[in-house]
Amino acid sequence: MNRVADTQVLIVGAGPVGLTLALDLGRRGVHCTLIERNTSTIQLPKMERCNARTMEIYRRLGIAERVRDAGLPREAPMDVFLALSMADPPLAHLPCPSVAAAKAEIAAHNDGGLLEPYQLISQYTLEPLLRSIVETIPCVTVRFGCEFISFTQDENSVTAVLQPKDAPQETIRASYLVGCDGGSSTVRKQLGIPLQGDGNIRKLRQALFRCDDLYERIPMGKGRHYHIAEGPLFPFIILQDSTRHWTLHAGAASDAEMAETFKKSLAMPIGFEMLSVNKWTQHLLCAERYSGGRVFIAGDAAHLVIPTGGLGMNTGVGDAIDLSWKLAATLAGWGGPQLLASYEAERRPIGLRNVKASRAAMAGRLGWRAAYDPNVKENTPEGAETRARMASLFDLHQRKVTEILGIEAGYCYVDSPIVWREPGDGPDPDNPSYVPTTWPGARLPHVWLDKGEALHDRLGPGYTLLCLGGTQADPSSLEKTFQKIRAPLDILDVSSERAREIYQYDLILVRPDLHVAWRGNKFPQEASEIATVATGHPTSSV
Ligand SMILES: Cc1cc2nc3c(=O)[nH]c(=O)nc-3n(C[C@H](O)[C@H](O)[C@H](O)COP(=O)(O)OP(=O)(O)OC[C@H]3O[C@@H](n4cnc5c(N)ncnc54)[C@H](O)[C@@H]3O)c2cc1C
Repeated sequence: MNRVADTQVLIVGAGPVGLTLALDLGRRGVHCTLIERNTSTIQLPKMERCNARTMEIYRRLGIAERVRDAGLPREAPMDVFLALSMADPPLAHLPCPSVAAAKAEIAAHNDGGLLEPYQLISQYTLEPLLRSIVETIPCVTVRFGCEFISFTQDENSVTAVLQPKDAPQETIRASYLVGCDGGSSTVRKQLGIPLQGDGNIRKLRQALFRCDDLYERIPMGKGRHYHIAEGPLFPFIILQDSTRHWTLHAGAASDAEMAETFKKSLAMPIGFEMLSVNKWTQHLLCAERYSGGRVFIAGDAAHLVIPTGGLGMNTGVGDAIDLSWKLAATLAGWGGPQLLASYEAERRPIGLRNVKASRAAMAGRLGWRAAYDPNVKENTPEGAETRARMASLFDLHQRKVTEILGIEAGYCYVDSPIVWREPGDGPDPDNPSYVPTTWPGARLPHVWLDKGEALHDRLGPGYTLLCLGGTQADPSSLEKTFQKIRAPLDILDVSSERAREIYQYDLILVRPDLHVAWRGNKFPQEASEIATVATGHPTSSV
């Protein structure tokens, strides 16, 4: 069998997670090969919202504004409605700010919140954009129409068998293999890793419509999600990024019933075209392990959630960004043995937690739907009562979908072997509200410095020691250990008093992925241990 050139990292699957991984690895100078069995990027709508944490990550990768330019216009509201039809007044209305309004809010506050708001962008828009960016990176080879078949591994490498379209099979050797190959991951199956949780919960159809006039004509107002209070299908209509395309989710029995349901939900004389229909299944599953030897899994290959709450792709982007710098550091020679091992220790608890949050979000949705009664449209006291009950439960439960910034960005790698242990329990992992914290393992809260500059934007690709509050602590022992390990460390003096107030400590060691590795007001006697732990080395080794 023909052997193509060796690569450092072989990435299987060019969905949003594989593409994000390739992008970050490429920026770090890692030679990688990204293979995708399809000949083009996805045509189906699937995901449509990058959450605030994903947008922060895309800002760090230098592409946030390109994602926004390709997505829903910045001024468009993101409101969520419950109504009897698209032509009726809302029964319940959850206002959610447009990107422009949310950005203005972020600019006006310096409270340790998020640096970027969410962005609505259809997966069929995001994937080609990411692909076009990844294809410009010289050290990344992108091959569409190339299927991963199998792998073997030894102590030093992984050898994979690939099947290019219309060509003989070939092999490729890589230092590491990452399966970003989606829910039915061949890589996960070959590693023998089972999924835990609840599979095949519910089957739905998703249809994509082109309906040019609808957006301008909805009497209840412009928004993102429209839930129709009509059992048993409960049609759910989602705006796509062009504002001309819409998806409908419903448990309809046939494709024709999807078109009929859309027409009925519109309840207005508007022309539309049904472009596609596909079936999809709800799962709440997480892989038992995230790796085996030199092989890792990320994204839907490792966890499958119900998209309620938007924790599918967004969780996968978090996996990619956690794994990427660890692979780069290990390949560069300075990453210790614990570094790659920490990927599973950090990301699997987040996968399990997000499966739980998705379950709660779905239970909430089922909660307001359970209040439905066929009398909902009647002009009677009973009908009014049904409407009021559905509306109040919607208002309560739908927030578990739209107001979960703590789940999206407040995750903390408390049990990681490369994070300094502090006594105590750490932040509440299930808090839906985001609470800024520098607890070791947490994402560094965003702080504005003078002249509107974000501290996040000052942090380089390696580790950074932030020195705050005019501290006189001597970092030389820490610096020496980093030098000895040959791990990159910047030291940044931050004079902002607001930063010191929010971070609550004089010294913060930040990792390449902007999570906190250690914090304190002075260095411990063995300051070098902070460096050895953070870079994944045994404490006695340096
Ligand atoms: C209806 C719906 C709505 C959703 N809404 C949201 C949302 O709003 N927010 C959110 O975060 N998530 C959402 N999701 C989930 C989101 O779509 C997925 O989590 C996301 O696509 C996962 O990305 P991935 O890259 O891990 O996997 P995938 O997107 O599944 O990509 C895997 C890729 O691997 C390729 N592949 C598979 N096997 C092989 C092989 N053997 N060789 C080569 N290539 C292979 C596949 O062709 C595919 O391109 C939604 C999902 C659905 C179904």
